[in-house]
Amino acid sequence: MVFALNDLLFEPEDSWRDQAACSGSDNELFFPVGEDEEVVAPAKSICAACPVKDDCLQYALATNQTEGVWGGMSAPERRRLRRRIRDRQRRAS
Ligand code: SF4
Repeated sequence: MVFALNDLLFEPEDSWRDQAACSGSDNELFFPVGEDEEVVAPAKSICAACPVKDDCLQYALATNQTEGVWGGMSAPERRRLRRRIRDRQRRAS
């Protein structure tokens, strides 16, 4: 999926949450202590099969979620993605 600057600005409608594969999961799984890959891997494996992964990631980008796993990405991965999107936008303008 290719994200654009608008993905950082617009939240998807909330209905995606109804299909979240993590519904009912332990919060600590998705908001673990630490950001190392082995710590976030269990949550990311659930995200991998989630039907609303893209909406979830867009929500996290639009609302600047700084903690936890959203849309299959850890917080550091989302920070890098946000930087790439903004850099690409800057170069294009
Ligand atoms: S992508 Fe991951 S965090 Fe987002 S709704 Fe799906 S399972 Fe939950």
